[in-house]
Amino acid sequence: MKASGHELTGLVFNIQKFAIQDGPGIRTTVFMKGCPLRCPWCSNPEGMGSAPEIMPSERKCIACKQCLEACASDAISFRAGIREIDWALCSGCLACAEVCPSRALEAVGEYKTVDETLRIVERDRDFYETSGGGVTVSGGEALLQWEFVRDLLKKCQQAGLHTALDTTGYCAWESMQQVLRHTDLVLFDVKHTDPDRHRVKTGVPNDQILRNLEGAASMTKVWLRVPIVRGFNDSEPNMHSTAELAVRVGAEKVSLLPCHHWARDKYRRLGRCYESEAAVGGAEPNGQMLSRWQEILCSHGLAFGVGN
Ligand code: SF4
Ligand code: SF4
Repeated sequence: MKASGHELTGLVFNIQKFAIQDGPGIRTTVFMKGCPLRCPWCSNPEGMGSAPEIMPSERKCIACKQCLEACASDAISFRAGIREIDWALCSGCLACAEVCPSRALEAVGEYKTVDETLRIVERDRDFYETSGGGVTVSGGEALLQWEFVRDLLKKCQQAGLHTALDTTGYCAWESMQQVLRHTDLVLFDVKHTDPDRHRVKTGVPNDQILRNLEGAASMTKVWLRVPIVRGFNDSEPNMHSTAELAVRVGAEKVSLLPCHHWARDKYRRLGRCYESEAAVGGAEPNGQMLSRWQEILCSHGLAFGVGN
């Protein structure tokens, strides 16, 4: 996040239209760049870093070598006609993406003002009105740029749009509180209720997250979002304690989000290791596991959804 003249800008890496898995109805989801967690199953690795970066595609490259000329860091080379990036040398300046004629070097992350973002979101107002949808701000962790998110959601509400925030919950309460004043619904991630398991796999403790969840639930409507990761959070005790937590905070619904390996190629394109299989086991959640989660949520009297 930075100030452009007098205007605050936010670093956005995607604006997804017609999103149907980020809250009620048809929505536009604004993805903010940067996240303090390092969940190995993350399906948006391009949202982790807090600065713009490139995501190359070999398939689109026509080997014109304009990127080679543009790169002042000598991070680009060609071997047997194939473009290669030395990630240790890449500064993320985006000069190569600017000259590439075939969009084979995608720039991930663009600074936008609140009003620019609002204008894009407002284009689909008719769809929100007919479907009961609205705008969702997600990430990354959107609250790393909480001032931008606060201003955006405030303006969306003033424009009569339903607002939702999708958050890991890992942030200072004071920032979250300011954003929640303009948030109709929080999609609050609960990855694991056990502090040690949470810290080992996500890189951060869950005590503040759970405190923030209590605070959020006292201010606005909450849907708990649980990524279902085999070998990580699928034990019966964790399923029950997650359900008990949802009951305690009065969550309107629990969304079960089965994790998959579809993002593997994005990690490779970003020059990163895909560690999900090694960290939590290769298997994706099966129907039996989802059924067990659903039985447990039902036994606690909770409403639930799969994927949203
Ligand atoms: S982002 Fe900048 S440093 Fe990195 S490869 Fe492209 S031109 Fe070179
Ligand atoms: S500028 Fe784009 S198309 Fe040309 S060689 Fe570089 S990546 Fe490939």
